[in-house]
Amino acid sequence: MTPAEFRSVGHDLVDRVSEFLDSLPDMPVTRGEKPSQLQRQLKSRKLPKSGSPTQAIIKEAAELLFDHSLFNGHPRFWGYITSSAAPIGALGDFLASSVNPNVGAWDLSPMATEIEKQTLGWIAEMIRYPPHSGGIFVSGGNMANLVGFWVARTSKAKWDVKKRGLQGGRETPLIYGTKETHAWLLKAADLSGFGTDAIRWVRLDKKSRMVASDLEKKIRNDIRRGRLPFMVVGTAGSVQTGAVDPLSEQAEICKKYGLWFHVDGAYGAFGAVLPELAGAYAGMSRADSIALDPHKWLYAPLEAGCILVKNDKLLHMTFSQHPAYYRFSRAGEEEPTNYYEFGPQNSRGFRALKVWLAFRQVGRSGYERMIRKDIALARRLFEKVGKTRELQQLSQSLSIATFRFVPHGMEPGTKKDETYLNKLNEELLTRLQRSGEVYLSNAVTNGTFALRACIVNFRTTTKDIDALPQIVVRHGRVVDSEMRKKTR
Ligand SMILES: *Cc1c(COP(=O)(O)O)cnc(C)c1O
Repeated sequence: MTPAEFRSVGHDLVDRVSEFLDSLPDMPVTRGEKPSQLQRQLKSRKLPKSGSPTQAIIKEAAELLFDHSLFNGHPRFWGYITSSAAPIGALGDFLASSVNPNVGAWDLSPMATEIEKQTLGWIAEMIRYPPHSGGIFVSGGNMANLVGFWVARTSKAKWDVKKRGLQGGRETPLIYGTKETHAWLLKAADLSGFGTDAIRWVRLDKKSRMVASDLEKKIRNDIRRGRLPFMVVGTAGSVQTGAVDPLSEQAEICKKYGLWFHVDGAYGAFGAVLPELAGAYAGMSRADSIALDPHKWLYAPLEAGCILVKNDKLLHMTFSQHPAYYRFSRAGEEEPTNYYEFGPQNSRGFRALKVWLAFRQVGRSGYERMIRKDIALARRLFEKVGKTRELQQLSQSLSIATFRFVPHGMEPGTKKDETYLNKLNEELLTRLQRSGEVYLSNAVTNGTFALRACIVNFRTTTKDIDALPQIVVRHGRVVDSEMRKKTR
């Protein structure tokens, strides 16, 4: 591609993307198409034998995506924990891939490495974590938690676990979490060779938070029986309900028994920027490691996760290997940061730039304002639900509200009606998701199927939130009458 062609095709694409962003509120959140419909759009094209004009293929790709995507940037997208992406992030990714630094080694990415380090320091400062902790950007929350898990494993093993593996110990070390802990923990325990039986499931209170006294009881019992506790996983903003564990008590217990304290703050840790929530997050700064997802509450486009580790020597110890073909440190010179020694990846993209740019663009105060607004919108929704006769409030924490549709005449709490309500709300969720009007997901707590709105969306307005209860009721009535007809 010549520079002139790049310029003209590039300008044209920026125009298309700007129009797309502008029209988001007027489009359906999703068209709810089936895989086969989309496969037909792509036709059964073989690997291209020869090339095509750039302008035409960029236009085609843009149209395919604009016409057949689910838009998490839509003001009425509230599913899972997937945020609207800040447009500055798209520009950041564009710039990053144009320069294409390999942020695996300082020599290959001098300024990019320093920007990544600075960005991690800002994230630590934002959540009141020691700013000189270590850290690294990874693809997302799962990877960030996995890295934290591996650092805990290497740091707490009383034998040379890097060399001898788990077989080097007399038995498998134990991890403490809850049923609200995200499923990364199952993957981590399984794929790291511990097996999921190494997870101790600590009891939850009514608000889905870990019961600290049960944690301590389980740890003590395990120690008494000669087992090897090594790690506690606290959650700062659970994926289902936004619950924040009693982090101070968890930190205290970890200190008492010499365990690694890891906090999964993929979604919620950024909430610590709000002074009014300081109480809930007190204790998080005592964690040995924290996983965070800038692609959630920092509004970075996918992918951007990161891990902070209080003692960066332990992060380095976990991942450092020195193959003979790398000569990135030279005696007598300043010691550069080579990120391939601080994480599982070797070649690494420049994920930090989009986050760095967004920090520069809005600052701490911008994030305070946006995060506070998301939480206020979730509370507003929860209140509106409480005032809507056919809706039942279930939970509200951080920017997540859960509720369900309960038709007239139903008695929540009775076994027969509970079974029906679960089926009804599950079908209702499918309808809502396909409708393109709004996008919710679900939570299941204590056997109750809940509709769940998670607001991590700077485009959502109070008008969008106020419209939701009646949309749910309208679809709910239709689904209810269809289900009753069928069972009659
Ligand atoms: C989103 C989330 C994860 C997983 O993060 P990904 O970025 O999807 O990999 C893990 N834990 C919590 C609490 C989350 O909210």
